[in-house]
Amino acid sequence: MKSVRDYKESLEKLSRKVYAMGKLVDNTVEHPLVQPSWRSVALSYDLAEHEEHEDLMTAYSPLTGGTINRFTHIQQDREDLTRKIKMLRLMGQRTGSCFQRCAGLDCINTLYSVTHDIDNAHGTSYHRRFLDFLFRVQSEDLVCDAAMTDPKGNRRLPPYQQHDPDLYLRVVDRNNEGIIVRGAKAHQTGALNSHYIVALPTTMMGEKDRDYVVSFAVPADAPGVSFVYGRQPSDTRRLEEGGKDAGNLYFGGHEALIIFEDVFVPHELIFMDGEYEFTPVLVERFASYHRASYGGCKVGVGDVLIGATGCMARYHGIEKSSHVRDKLVEMNYLNETLYSCGLASSCAGTQLASGNYFVDPLLANVCKLNVTRLPFEIARLAQDICGGIMVTLPSDQDFQHPQISELLKKYYQGIEEIDTATKVQMIRLVENLTLGSGASAYLTESVHGAGSPQAQRIMIERNMNLEHKMELARSLLQAPPF
Ligand code: SF4
Ligand code: FE
Repeated sequence: MKSVRDYKESLEKLSRKVYAMGKLVDNTVEHPLVQPSWRSVALSYDLAEHEEHEDLMTAYSPLTGGTINRFTHIQQDREDLTRKIKMLRLMGQRTGSCFQRCAGLDCINTLYSVTHDIDNAHGTSYHRRFLDFLFRVQSEDLVCDAAMTDPKGNRRLPPYQQHDPDLYLRVVDRNNEGIIVRGAKAHQTGALNSHYIVALPTTMMGEKDRDYVVSFAVPADAPGVSFVYGRQPSDTRRLEEGGKDAGNLYFGGHEALIIFEDVFVPHELIFMDGEYEFTPVLVERFASYHRASYGGCKVGVGDVLIGATGCMARYHGIEKSSHVRDKLVEMNYLNETLYSCGLASSCAGTQLASGNYFVDPLLANVCKLNVTRLPFEIARLAQDICGGIMVTLPSDQDFQHPQISELLKKYYQGIEEIDTATKVQMIRLVENLTLGSGASAYLTESVHGAGSPQAQRIMIERNMNLEHKMELARSLLQAPPF
Protein backbone atom coordinates (compact mmCIF):
# COMPACT_ATOMS: atom_id res chain seq x y z
CA MET A 1 0.00 0.00 0.00
CA LYS A 2 1.08 3.56 -0.64
CA SER A 3 2.07 5.93 2.15
CA VAL A 4 0.77 9.51 2.18
CA ARG A 5 4.13 10.61 0.82
CA ASP A 6 3.95 8.06 -2.04
CA TYR A 7 0.46 9.24 -2.83
CA LYS A 8 1.52 12.88 -2.91
CA GLU A 9 4.47 12.11 -5.17
CA SER A 10 2.35 10.00 -7.49
CA LEU A 11 -0.01 12.94 -8.07
CA GLU A 12 2.84 15.38 -8.52
CA LYS A 13 4.23 13.16 -11.28
CA LEU A 14 1.04 13.48 -13.33
CA SER A 15 1.29 16.07 -16.03
CA ARG A 16 -2.26 17.33 -16.40
CA LYS A 17 -4.06 20.35 -17.74
CA VAL A 18 -5.94 21.76 -14.73
CA TYR A 19 -7.77 25.12 -14.59
CA ALA A 20 -8.88 26.79 -11.37
CA MET A 21 -10.25 30.35 -11.10
CA GLY A 22 -9.09 31.20 -14.59
CA LYS A 23 -5.51 30.01 -14.19
CA LEU A 24 -3.60 26.88 -15.14
CA VAL A 25 -2.50 25.04 -12.01
CA ASP A 26 0.92 23.37 -11.95
CA ASN A 27 0.80 21.50 -8.70
CA THR A 28 -2.71 20.73 -7.48
CA VAL A 29 -1.49 19.20 -4.22
CA GLU A 30 0.00 22.53 -3.13
CA HIS A 31 -2.82 24.71 -4.46
CA PRO A 32 -4.73 26.29 -1.52
CA LEU A 33 -8.13 25.52 -3.10
CA VAL A 34 -7.30 21.89 -3.86
CA GLN A 35 -5.00 20.96 -1.00
CA PRO A 36 -7.75 20.37 1.62
CA SER A 37 -9.44 17.88 -0.70
CA TRP A 38 -6.13 16.18 -1.41
CA ARG A 39 -5.61 15.89 2.34
CA SER A 40 -9.02 14.23 2.74
CA VAL A 41 -8.07 11.52 0.25
CA ALA A 42 -4.60 11.27 1.78
CA LEU A 43 -6.23 10.33 5.07
CA SER A 44 -7.44 7.10 3.43
CA TYR A 45 -3.75 6.20 2.99
CA ASP A 46 -2.76 7.41 6.42
CA LEU A 47 -5.46 5.54 8.40
CA ALA A 48 -4.68 2.31 6.52
CA GLU A 49 -1.26 2.32 8.18
CA HIS A 50 -2.72 2.51 11.69
CA GLU A 51 -3.14 -0.84 13.40
CA GLU A 52 -6.31 0.20 15.21
CA HIS A 53 -8.01 0.87 11.88
CA GLU A 54 -6.73 -2.04 9.86
CA ASP A 55 -10.03 -3.98 10.09
CA LEU A 56 -11.89 -1.13 8.48
CA MET A 57 -9.25 0.41 6.26
CA THR A 58 -7.64 -2.68 4.74
CA ALA A 59 -8.80 -5.99 3.29
CA TYR A 60 -7.41 -9.20 1.84
CA SER A 61 -7.59 -9.29 -1.94
CA PRO A 62 -8.12 -12.68 -3.59
CA LEU A 63 -6.85 -11.06 -6.78
CA THR A 64 -3.43 -9.89 -5.56
CA GLY A 65 -3.21 -12.39 -2.70
CA GLY A 66 -2.19 -9.61 -0.34
CA THR A 67 -3.44 -6.84 1.91
CA ILE A 68 -4.89 -3.86 0.10
CA ASN A 69 -6.55 -0.59 0.98
CA ARG A 70 -10.29 -1.20 1.42
CA PHE A 71 -10.93 1.68 -0.98
CA THR A 72 -9.74 -0.64 -3.78
CA HIS A 73 -11.48 -3.79 -2.52
CA ILE A 74 -14.14 -5.90 -4.26
CA GLN A 75 -16.70 -6.75 -1.59
CA GLN A 76 -16.67 -10.51 -1.01
CA ASP A 77 -19.50 -10.82 1.53
CA ARG A 78 -21.98 -8.85 3.63
CA GLU A 79 -19.29 -8.18 6.22
CA ASP A 80 -17.26 -6.36 3.55
CA LEU A 81 -20.29 -4.26 2.61
CA THR A 82 -20.83 -3.40 6.26
CA ARG A 83 -17.19 -2.56 6.90
CA LYS A 84 -17.24 -0.21 3.96
CA ILE A 85 -20.06 1.80 5.56
CA LYS A 86 -18.17 1.89 8.87
CA MET A 87 -14.98 2.96 7.08
CA LEU A 88 -16.84 5.80 5.38
CA ARG A 89 -18.28 6.99 8.69
CA LEU A 90 -14.80 6.98 10.20
CA MET A 91 -13.43 8.98 7.27
CA GLY A 92 -16.32 11.46 7.51
CA GLN A 93 -15.61 11.90 11.21
CA ARG A 94 -11.93 12.58 10.57
CA THR A 95 -12.34 14.96 7.62
CA GLY A 96 -15.72 16.64 8.19
CA SER A 97 -15.99 16.63 4.43
CA CYS A 98 -16.29 14.52 1.30
CA PHE A 99 -13.14 12.39 1.03
CA GLN A 100 -13.89 11.46 -2.57
CA ARG A 101 -12.37 8.02 -2.85
CA CYS A 102 -15.60 6.03 -2.47
CA ALA A 103 -17.07 6.91 -5.86
CA GLY A 104 -14.17 5.03 -7.48
CA LEU A 105 -14.64 2.15 -5.04
CA ASP A 106 -18.32 1.85 -5.93
CA CYS A 107 -17.41 2.11 -9.61
CA ILE A 108 -14.94 -0.80 -9.56
CA ASN A 109 -17.42 -2.97 -7.65
CA THR A 110 -20.01 -2.19 -10.32
CA LEU A 111 -17.72 -2.94 -13.25
CA TYR A 112 -16.53 -6.16 -11.63
CA SER A 113 -20.03 -7.62 -11.99
CA VAL A 114 -21.26 -5.85 -15.12
CA THR A 115 -18.23 -6.82 -17.23
CA HIS A 116 -18.79 -10.40 -16.08
CA ASP A 117 -22.47 -10.25 -17.12
CA ILE A 118 -21.72 -8.72 -20.53
CA ASP A 119 -19.11 -11.40 -21.25
CA ASN A 120 -21.63 -14.11 -20.40
CA ALA A 121 -24.13 -12.67 -22.84
CA HIS A 122 -21.79 -11.66 -25.68
CA GLY A 123 -18.65 -13.78 -25.34
CA THR A 124 -16.56 -10.61 -24.97
CA SER A 125 -13.48 -10.37 -22.76
CA TYR A 126 -14.24 -7.26 -20.73
CA HIS A 127 -14.01 -8.98 -17.37
CA ARG A 128 -10.47 -10.25 -18.00
CA ARG A 129 -9.39 -6.76 -19.09
CA PHE A 130 -11.09 -5.25 -16.07
CA LEU A 131 -9.32 -7.69 -13.73
CA ASP A 132 -5.96 -6.68 -15.21
CA PHE A 133 -6.82 -3.05 -14.56
CA LEU A 134 -8.12 -3.85 -11.08
CA PHE A 135 -4.89 -5.70 -10.28
CA ARG A 136 -3.02 -2.46 -10.97
CA VAL A 137 -5.44 -0.39 -8.93
CA GLN A 138 -5.11 -2.73 -5.95
CA SER A 139 -1.41 -3.45 -6.09
CA GLU A 140 -0.44 0.21 -6.73
CA ASP A 141 -3.13 1.54 -4.34
CA LEU A 142 -4.60 3.94 -6.89
CA VAL A 143 -7.48 6.41 -6.70
CA CYS A 144 -10.11 6.11 -9.45
CA ASP A 145 -12.44 8.90 -10.43
CA ALA A 146 -15.88 7.46 -11.21
CA ALA A 147 -16.77 9.49 -14.28
CA MET A 148 -20.47 8.93 -14.72
CA THR A 149 -22.44 12.18 -15.03
CA ASP A 150 -22.55 13.69 -18.52
CA PRO A 151 -23.52 17.34 -19.10
CA LYS A 152 -26.82 15.99 -20.57
CA GLY A 153 -27.91 19.14 -22.50
CA ASN A 154 -31.66 18.92 -23.03
CA ARG A 155 -32.64 16.35 -20.45
CA ARG A 156 -35.81 15.39 -22.26
CA LEU A 157 -33.77 14.01 -25.16
CA PRO A 158 -31.66 10.83 -25.34
CA PRO A 159 -27.96 11.19 -26.16
CA TYR A 160 -28.31 10.60 -29.90
CA GLN A 161 -30.95 13.38 -30.26
CA GLN A 162 -29.02 16.16 -28.53
CA HIS A 163 -28.44 19.29 -30.65
CA ASP A 164 -24.73 18.94 -29.87
CA PRO A 165 -23.68 15.27 -30.09
CA ASP A 166 -20.87 15.80 -27.56
CA LEU A 167 -23.25 16.51 -24.64
CA TYR A 168 -22.85 12.87 -23.69
CA LEU A 169 -19.40 11.29 -23.80
CA ARG A 170 -19.12 9.19 -26.96
CA VAL A 171 -16.88 7.19 -29.26
CA VAL A 172 -16.02 9.39 -32.27
CA ASP A 173 -13.55 7.10 -34.00
CA ARG A 174 -12.03 3.65 -33.92
CA ASN A 175 -8.75 2.12 -35.08
CA ASN A 176 -6.93 -1.18 -34.67
CA GLU A 177 -5.55 -0.21 -31.28
CA GLY A 178 -8.68 1.20 -29.62
CA ILE A 179 -11.22 4.01 -29.63
CA ILE A 180 -11.23 7.81 -29.61
CA VAL A 181 -13.68 9.46 -27.21
CA ARG A 182 -15.04 13.00 -26.99
CA GLY A 183 -17.31 14.72 -24.47
CA ALA A 184 -17.23 15.69 -20.82
CA LYS A 185 -18.12 14.42 -17.38
CA ALA A 186 -19.52 16.87 -14.85
CA HIS A 187 -19.46 17.18 -11.03
CA GLN A 188 -16.45 14.86 -10.82
CA THR A 189 -15.76 14.27 -7.14
CA GLY A 190 -12.07 14.11 -6.36
CA ALA A 191 -11.09 14.33 -10.04
CA LEU A 192 -7.85 16.19 -9.30
CA ASN A 193 -6.84 13.68 -6.64
CA SER A 194 -7.29 10.65 -8.90
CA HIS A 195 -4.76 8.59 -10.82
CA TYR A 196 -7.28 7.15 -13.27
CA ILE A 197 -10.57 8.30 -14.73
CA VAL A 198 -13.02 5.43 -15.11
CA ALA A 199 -15.91 6.41 -17.36
CA LEU A 200 -19.36 4.84 -17.19
CA PRO A 201 -22.57 5.57 -19.12
CA THR A 202 -24.79 7.82 -17.01
CA THR A 203 -28.25 6.62 -17.96
CA MET A 204 -30.18 3.84 -19.66
CA MET A 205 -29.53 3.97 -23.37
CA GLY A 206 -31.04 2.49 -26.52
CA GLU A 207 -29.72 1.02 -29.74
CA LYS A 208 -29.38 4.43 -31.41
CA ASP A 209 -27.17 5.55 -28.51
CA ARG A 210 -24.59 2.82 -29.12
CA ASP A 211 -21.68 5.23 -29.52
CA TYR A 212 -22.49 6.65 -26.09
CA VAL A 213 -22.51 3.26 -24.39
CA VAL A 214 -18.88 3.21 -23.38
CA SER A 215 -16.96 2.41 -20.24
CA PHE A 216 -13.19 2.67 -20.02
CA ALA A 217 -10.24 3.78 -17.91
CA VAL A 218 -7.64 6.38 -18.84
CA PRO A 219 -4.76 7.80 -16.82
CA ALA A 220 -5.63 11.23 -15.43
CA ASP A 221 -2.88 12.72 -17.58
CA ALA A 222 -3.88 11.07 -20.84
CA PRO A 223 -3.43 13.44 -23.82
CA GLY A 224 -6.64 15.38 -24.53
CA VAL A 225 -7.97 15.27 -20.96
CA SER A 226 -8.42 18.56 -19.08
CA PHE A 227 -9.97 19.53 -15.77
CA VAL A 228 -11.79 22.65 -14.61
CA TYR A 229 -12.10 23.08 -10.86
CA GLY A 230 -15.67 23.68 -9.60
CA ARG A 231 -16.37 26.56 -7.19
CA GLN A 232 -17.88 26.07 -3.76
CA PRO A 233 -19.53 28.65 -1.47
CA SER A 234 -16.94 30.82 0.33
CA ASP A 235 -14.11 28.90 -1.35
CA THR A 236 -11.88 31.98 -1.69
CA ARG A 237 -11.66 32.18 2.09
CA ARG A 238 -8.98 29.54 1.60
CA LEU A 239 -6.97 32.13 -0.33
CA GLU A 240 -7.09 34.67 2.53
CA GLU A 241 -4.08 35.03 4.79
CA GLY A 242 -4.28 32.38 7.51
CA GLY A 243 -7.41 30.95 5.86
CA LYS A 244 -9.10 30.60 9.26
CA ASP A 245 -12.49 31.84 8.12
CA ALA A 246 -12.72 28.80 5.83
CA GLY A 247 -13.99 26.98 8.92
CA ASN A 248 -12.84 23.44 8.17
CA LEU A 249 -9.17 24.35 8.47
CA TYR A 250 -7.44 21.34 6.92
CA PHE A 251 -9.95 19.19 5.05
CA GLY A 252 -12.42 19.62 2.23
CA GLY A 253 -13.70 18.07 -0.97
CA HIS A 254 -13.91 19.17 -4.56
CA GLU A 255 -15.63 18.55 -7.85
CA ALA A 256 -14.38 19.31 -11.33
CA LEU A 257 -15.51 19.18 -14.93
CA ILE A 258 -13.45 16.72 -16.96
CA ILE A 259 -13.23 17.41 -20.68
CA PHE A 260 -12.21 14.74 -23.18
CA GLU A 261 -10.96 16.21 -26.45
CA ASP A 262 -10.52 13.19 -28.72
CA VAL A 263 -8.85 11.00 -26.15
CA PHE A 264 -7.41 7.66 -27.23
CA VAL A 265 -8.35 4.59 -25.18
CA PRO A 266 -6.54 1.30 -25.93
CA HIS A 267 -8.59 -1.90 -26.19
CA GLU A 268 -7.24 -3.27 -22.92
CA LEU A 269 -8.81 -0.40 -20.98
CA ILE A 270 -12.29 -0.62 -22.58
CA PHE A 271 -14.87 -2.36 -20.34
CA MET A 272 -18.07 -1.79 -22.32
CA ASP A 273 -18.60 -0.69 -25.89
CA GLY A 274 -22.08 -0.55 -27.35
CA GLU A 275 -23.88 -3.15 -25.17
CA TYR A 276 -26.76 -0.76 -24.49
CA GLU A 277 -29.02 -3.43 -22.95
CA PHE A 278 -26.62 -3.51 -19.97
CA THR A 279 -26.92 0.20 -19.22
CA PRO A 280 -29.93 -0.23 -16.83
CA VAL A 281 -28.14 -2.81 -14.70
CA LEU A 282 -24.92 -0.81 -14.69
CA VAL A 283 -26.67 2.38 -13.62
CA GLU A 284 -28.72 0.57 -10.98
CA ARG A 285 -25.68 -1.14 -9.46
CA PHE A 286 -23.48 1.92 -9.31
CA ALA A 287 -26.31 4.09 -8.00
CA SER A 288 -27.26 1.58 -5.32
CA TYR A 289 -23.69 1.06 -4.10
CA HIS A 290 -23.13 4.80 -3.94
CA ARG A 291 -26.51 5.58 -2.38
CA ALA A 292 -25.67 3.16 0.43
CA SER A 293 -22.26 4.84 0.84
CA TYR A 294 -24.00 8.05 1.87
CA GLY A 295 -25.28 6.17 4.93
CA GLY A 296 -21.63 6.14 6.06
CA CYS A 297 -19.89 9.31 4.86
CA LYS A 298 -22.65 11.82 5.59
CA VAL A 299 -23.18 10.25 9.01
CA GLY A 300 -19.52 10.83 9.86
CA VAL A 301 -19.80 14.47 8.81
CA GLY A 302 -23.05 14.64 10.80
CA ASP A 303 -21.11 13.44 13.87
CA VAL A 304 -18.73 16.38 13.43
CA LEU A 305 -21.59 18.86 13.04
CA ILE A 306 -23.37 17.47 16.10
CA GLY A 307 -20.09 17.71 18.04
CA ALA A 308 -19.53 21.30 16.92
CA THR A 309 -23.10 22.15 17.91
CA GLY A 310 -22.59 20.52 21.31
CA CYS A 311 -19.45 22.62 21.78
CA MET A 312 -21.34 25.78 20.85
CA ALA A 313 -24.11 24.96 23.32
CA ARG A 314 -21.43 24.64 25.97
CA TYR A 315 -19.57 27.80 24.92
CA HIS A 316 -22.85 29.76 25.01
CA GLY A 317 -23.62 28.33 28.46
CA ILE A 318 -26.88 26.72 27.30
CA GLU A 319 -25.90 23.05 27.23
CA LYS A 320 -28.15 22.17 30.16
CA SER A 321 -31.28 23.82 28.77
CA SER A 322 -33.85 21.12 28.17
CA HIS A 323 -34.76 22.31 24.67
CA VAL A 324 -31.08 22.36 23.65
CA ARG A 325 -30.56 18.84 24.98
CA ASP A 326 -33.65 17.71 23.14
CA LYS A 327 -32.43 19.26 19.89
CA LEU A 328 -29.10 17.45 20.25
CA VAL A 329 -31.03 14.21 20.81
CA GLU A 330 -33.05 14.92 17.66
CA MET A 331 -29.87 15.53 15.64
CA ASN A 332 -28.41 12.22 16.82
CA TYR A 333 -31.64 10.35 16.12
CA LEU A 334 -31.70 11.68 12.56
CA ASN A 335 -28.03 10.94 12.00
CA GLU A 336 -28.26 7.38 13.30
CA THR A 337 -31.32 6.81 11.10
CA LEU A 338 -29.09 7.40 8.08
CA TYR A 339 -26.47 5.03 9.46
CA SER A 340 -29.11 2.36 10.07
CA CYS A 341 -30.11 2.54 6.42
CA GLY A 342 -26.50 2.28 5.23
CA LEU A 343 -25.90 -0.74 7.44
CA ALA A 344 -29.25 -2.35 6.62
CA SER A 345 -28.65 -2.18 2.86
CA SER A 346 -25.29 -3.89 3.49
CA CYS A 347 -26.59 -6.56 5.88
CA ALA A 348 -29.33 -7.44 3.35
CA GLY A 349 -26.81 -7.57 0.49
CA THR A 350 -26.76 -10.51 -1.93
CA GLN A 351 -24.17 -12.30 -4.03
CA LEU A 352 -24.06 -11.54 -7.75
CA ALA A 353 -23.29 -14.04 -10.52
CA SER A 354 -19.73 -12.66 -10.63
CA GLY A 355 -19.26 -13.69 -6.98
CA ASN A 356 -19.00 -10.25 -5.38
CA TYR A 357 -21.70 -8.79 -3.16
CA PHE A 358 -24.29 -6.15 -3.94
CA VAL A 359 -26.21 -3.97 -1.47
CA ASP A 360 -29.98 -4.34 -1.18
CA PRO A 361 -31.13 -1.80 -3.80
CA LEU A 362 -34.43 -0.90 -2.10
CA LEU A 363 -32.77 -0.15 1.23
CA ALA A 364 -29.89 1.68 -0.47
CA ASN A 365 -32.38 3.97 -2.19
CA VAL A 366 -34.31 4.52 1.03
CA CYS A 367 -30.96 5.40 2.61
CA LYS A 368 -30.15 8.00 -0.02
CA LEU A 369 -33.66 9.46 -0.06
CA ASN A 370 -33.33 10.04 3.68
CA VAL A 371 -29.93 11.62 3.02
CA THR A 372 -31.62 14.14 0.70
CA ARG A 373 -33.61 15.42 3.71
CA LEU A 374 -32.28 14.63 7.17
CA PRO A 375 -28.93 16.49 6.97
CA PHE A 376 -30.93 19.67 6.24
CA GLU A 377 -32.84 19.23 9.49
CA ILE A 378 -29.62 18.44 11.34
CA ALA A 379 -28.08 21.60 9.84
CA ARG A 380 -31.16 23.67 10.79
CA LEU A 381 -30.90 22.53 14.40
CA ALA A 382 -27.16 23.27 14.42
CA GLN A 383 -27.88 26.81 13.22
CA ASP A 384 -30.67 27.16 15.79
CA ILE A 385 -28.31 26.31 18.66
CA CYS A 386 -25.26 28.12 17.25
CA GLY A 387 -27.17 31.39 16.85
CA GLY A 388 -27.18 34.28 14.38
CA ILE A 389 -23.58 35.05 15.33
CA MET A 390 -22.62 32.60 12.62
CA VAL A 391 -23.56 35.06 9.90
CA THR A 392 -22.62 38.33 11.63
CA LEU A 393 -19.18 37.50 13.01
CA PRO A 394 -16.32 39.82 11.95
CA SER A 395 -13.49 38.40 9.86
CA ASP A 396 -10.33 36.87 11.22
CA GLN A 397 -8.48 39.97 9.94
CA ASP A 398 -10.54 42.09 12.34
CA PHE A 399 -9.75 39.72 15.19
CA GLN A 400 -6.05 40.23 14.35
CA HIS A 401 -6.28 44.02 14.01
CA PRO A 402 -4.18 45.71 16.77
CA GLN A 403 -6.79 48.42 17.40
CA ILE A 404 -9.88 46.27 17.85
CA SER A 405 -8.56 42.77 18.56
CA GLU A 406 -8.92 43.04 22.33
CA LEU A 407 -12.37 44.59 22.10
CA LEU A 408 -13.57 41.84 19.77
CA LYS A 409 -12.19 39.17 22.09
CA LYS A 410 -13.99 40.82 24.99
CA TYR A 411 -17.38 41.16 23.31
CA TYR A 412 -17.41 37.79 21.56
CA GLN A 413 -16.44 35.76 24.62
CA GLY A 414 -18.95 33.14 25.75
CA ILE A 415 -18.47 31.26 29.02
CA GLU A 416 -15.42 32.39 30.93
CA GLU A 417 -13.51 29.10 30.62
CA ILE A 418 -13.36 29.19 26.83
CA ASP A 419 -11.23 31.72 24.99
CA THR A 420 -12.89 33.69 22.23
CA ALA A 421 -10.61 32.33 19.50
CA THR A 422 -11.76 28.75 20.17
CA LYS A 423 -15.41 29.78 20.15
CA VAL A 424 -15.02 31.77 16.92
CA GLN A 425 -13.28 28.88 15.19
CA MET A 426 -16.07 26.50 16.22
CA ILE A 427 -18.68 28.89 14.84
CA ARG A 428 -16.75 28.97 11.59
CA LEU A 429 -16.83 25.15 11.46
CA VAL A 430 -20.64 25.13 11.84
CA GLU A 431 -20.80 27.84 9.19
CA ASN A 432 -18.58 25.79 6.86
CA LEU A 433 -20.76 22.70 7.19
CA THR A 434 -24.14 24.39 6.92
CA LEU A 435 -23.50 27.37 4.62
CA GLY A 436 -19.92 27.38 3.37
CA SER A 437 -17.78 25.14 1.19
CA GLY A 438 -18.53 22.13 3.42
CA ALA A 439 -22.27 22.57 2.84
CA SER A 440 -21.75 21.82 -0.83
CA ALA A 441 -20.91 18.26 0.26
CA TYR A 442 -23.04 17.93 3.40
CA LEU A 443 -26.21 19.48 1.96
CA THR A 444 -26.32 20.01 -1.82
CA GLU A 445 -24.38 16.84 -2.61
CA SER A 446 -26.71 15.02 -0.21
CA VAL A 447 -29.54 16.03 -2.53
CA HIS A 448 -27.92 15.39 -5.90
CA GLY A 449 -24.91 13.12 -5.39
CA ALA A 450 -25.47 9.54 -6.59
CA GLY A 451 -28.64 10.81 -8.28
CA SER A 452 -31.29 13.37 -7.38
CA PRO A 453 -34.26 12.49 -5.10
CA GLN A 454 -36.62 11.61 -7.93
CA ALA A 455 -34.19 8.92 -9.11
CA GLN A 456 -34.46 7.27 -5.69
CA ARG A 457 -38.25 7.46 -5.77
CA ILE A 458 -38.26 5.73 -9.16
CA MET A 459 -36.05 2.97 -7.78
CA ILE A 460 -38.20 2.60 -4.67
CA GLU A 461 -41.30 2.30 -6.86
CA ARG A 462 -39.56 -0.34 -8.96
CA ASN A 463 -38.48 -2.36 -5.93
CA MET A 464 -41.40 -1.86 -3.55
CA ASN A 465 -43.38 -4.87 -4.80
CA LEU A 466 -46.80 -3.32 -4.35
CA GLU A 467 -48.56 -6.31 -5.91
CA HIS A 468 -47.18 -8.55 -3.16
CA LYS A 469 -48.34 -6.12 -0.49
CA MET A 470 -51.80 -5.91 -2.05
CA GLU A 471 -51.92 -9.69 -2.00
CA LEU A 472 -51.05 -9.66 1.71
CA ALA A 473 -53.93 -7.30 2.38
CA ARG A 474 -56.35 -9.35 0.27
CA SER A 475 -55.33 -12.55 2.04
CA LEU A 476 -56.34 -11.07 5.38
CA LEU A 477 -59.88 -10.78 4.05
CA GLN A 478 -59.99 -14.59 3.71
CA ALA A 479 -60.56 -16.99 6.59
CA PRO A 480 -57.35 -18.93 7.51
CA PRO A 481 -57.36 -22.71 6.76
CA PHE A 482 -57.25 -23.65 10.46
FE1 SF4 B 1 -17.58 9.36 -0.72
FE2 SF4 B 1 -19.61 10.51 0.43
FE3 SF4 B 1 -17.96 11.96 -1.07
FE4 SF4 B 1 -19.63 10.21 -2.24
S1 SF4 B 1 -20.20 12.04 -1.07
S2 SF4 B 1 -17.44 10.45 -2.65
S3 SF4 B 1 -19.70 8.58 -0.70
S4 SF4 B 1 -17.46 10.95 0.84
FE1 FE C 1 -20.85 12.05 -3.80
